[in-house]
Amino acid sequence: MTFYLHGTEDLRFPRPQSPTPTQCQRTPEMFDFEYGDCNRKGPELIQARRACSRCPLAADCLLWALVNKDLTPVGIIAGTTPRQRTKLRDRLAARLGPNWIDVLAAQEQARRAQAAARSRAA
Ligand code: SF4
Repeated sequence: MTFYLHGTEDLRFPRPQSPTPTQCQRTPEMFDFEYGDCNRKGPELIQARRACSRCPLAADCLLWALVNKDLTPVGIIAGTTPRQRTKLRDRLAARLGPNWIDVLAAQEQARRAQAAARSRAA
C-alpha cells in the first residue's frame, strides 16, 4: 500500500497487510490523486476504485485511512477520494461524537478480543 506519511500513525489501528502485493503497491501511480483532481484523473480514478472494490483489505484499509487523517491527505484509498474521506469523518463525528476515533478504537479492541476468545475456544 502506498501512503503518504506526514504524521503519526494511530497504533490502535494496525495498518492492513497483505501476503501478496496489492494493486496500489503494484501500480501506485494509478492511486495518485490530489484534492480536487476529479476531472484530470477520471479514468485512473475509475480504475483505482475498481481495484479497491476487489481488494480483500478494503474494509481495514478504509478504517486505517479514516483514523489516520494526517497520513492520508491525498490518494485514492479504499476507493475513496480525499474529499470523500473528509465527509466520512464528518459523518462519524456526527454519529459517534467528537471522540469518534476513541470510540472506534474501543470497538476494534472488543472485536479483536472476541476473535481471540473464539479462536482459543475452537
Ligand atoms: S483497498 Fe485499495 S488502497 Fe487499500 S490496500 Fe487495497 S488496493 Fe490499496
